[in-house]
Amino acid sequence: MSSKNKVALVLSYQYPGKYALTVLAGAVESDPVGRDVALRFPRDRDSLLAMVRECLDEGYQVVVAWSFYSASFPAAAEELAWLREQLAGREVLCIAGGVHATAETEQTLQAGFDLVAVGEGETILLDLLGRMMRGEDPRQTRGFSQLVDGRVVPRGRGEGVVLDHYPPFAARNMKFGAIEITRGCIYACRFCQTPFLNKARFRHRTVENIAHWTRVLREAGKRDVRFITPTSMSYGTQDESMNLEAVERMLAAVREAMGPEGRVFYGTFPSEVRPEHVTPEALALLKRYVDNDNLIIGGQSGSERILQETRRGHDVETVVRAASLAVEWGFVPNVDFILGLPGETPEDVQATLVLMRRLAHVGAKVHGHTFMPLPGTPYRDAPPGSVDDETRRELDRLASQGRLYGHWKQQVRLANGIASRRQPRR
Ligand code: SF4
Repeated sequence: MSSKNKVALVLSYQYPGKYALTVLAGAVESDPVGRDVALRFPRDRDSLLAMVRECLDEGYQVVVAWSFYSASFPAAAEELAWLREQLAGREVLCIAGGVHATAETEQTLQAGFDLVAVGEGETILLDLLGRMMRGEDPRQTRGFSQLVDGRVVPRGRGEGVVLDHYPPFAARNMKFGAIEITRGCIYACRFCQTPFLNKARFRHRTVENIAHWTRVLREAGKRDVRFITPTSMSYGTQDESMNLEAVERMLAAVREAMGPEGRVFYGTFPSEVRPEHVTPEALALLKRYVDNDNLIIGGQSGSERILQETRRGHDVETVVRAASLAVEWGFVPNVDFILGLPGETPEDVQATLVLMRRLAHVGAKVHGHTFMPLPGTPYRDAPPGSVDDETRRELDRLASQGRLYGHWKQQVRLANGIASRRQPRR
């Protein structure tokens, strides 16, 4: 008989945290230690409670895990409080991770989570589960912070995960998702959490590894493959340049792995293309390999001053050129914009509206977002994004012409919520 303790990991498997939890479940199921951990994927709070109770009744030590963004933090905290109340003192270890928990560790711990995973989760979660199976104290695991006497006790952070060492999803548990091909970002856009969480350099999954997991997707009966990367055309590079040869080798391998019936989506949701990377050579390559008819291009602002302040690393004309070229090559460019960026003057807002109209004129669609002061970014303490009435009318007009889409109105509320919850820096 095994002398190991029985450990169950119950993942609060709800949108949007479930994407990160799928990656973590993949790490657990593929690891020699993690393989003995019972994994559960409840999709709502009632099944979360039922599965936790069932695991406890079966004699497991139970870890319940949440991953969330800043906007979904209140819902996760509320679910945690509800679960604890329902369990009426039965012992479970409640842990949280993700970009918000990493950036606002104290706030997350004060919400009642026992431990916060700081940084990248794969390695440190496996360490924690291994400790529990061996009967050791999980609270001593490196990479997890906790509150002791009301003060945060940090224990380092998880980082530097080599993507090839872990699967991109949890195939044994039939939980699939987009394949993360690059983690970290060398660009330093001031509104973005990616360089903060995953460091300012690119780590790429190898072509062979991507092809392997694509075959696994196909063998599971999936017809489509999608990818996660901070910037699609940066695959295979360590700097601002493109390595189209590397992108082509990867896409050719993926195409082959998917077979004639499969569909390959690249440069579109859930990843995007930087505007300066939209060149005739890059478009010709994409045209040869991908099935998407649209490209998502980061534009963000029509004001040169704001583009510089936010450190986007490109100018307005580059965005227009990218959209025009994409149209020429038969793609619908969907250009991302952020409304209400810090320090915007009425002239900057006007410049953004002018650019949106120019893009609409060349055949692009505009994807509107409202600026959120995200924890971990240089803009964490900036005012939440707002959209004045005149701009709102103009945006509604573009939307009615089918040229603008997005949740920018709902995001005004989310941005205010994030700002209202932030605590002073210590
Ligand atoms: S917005 Fe995109 S390019 Fe800029 S730092 Fe974030 S991930 Fe990188």
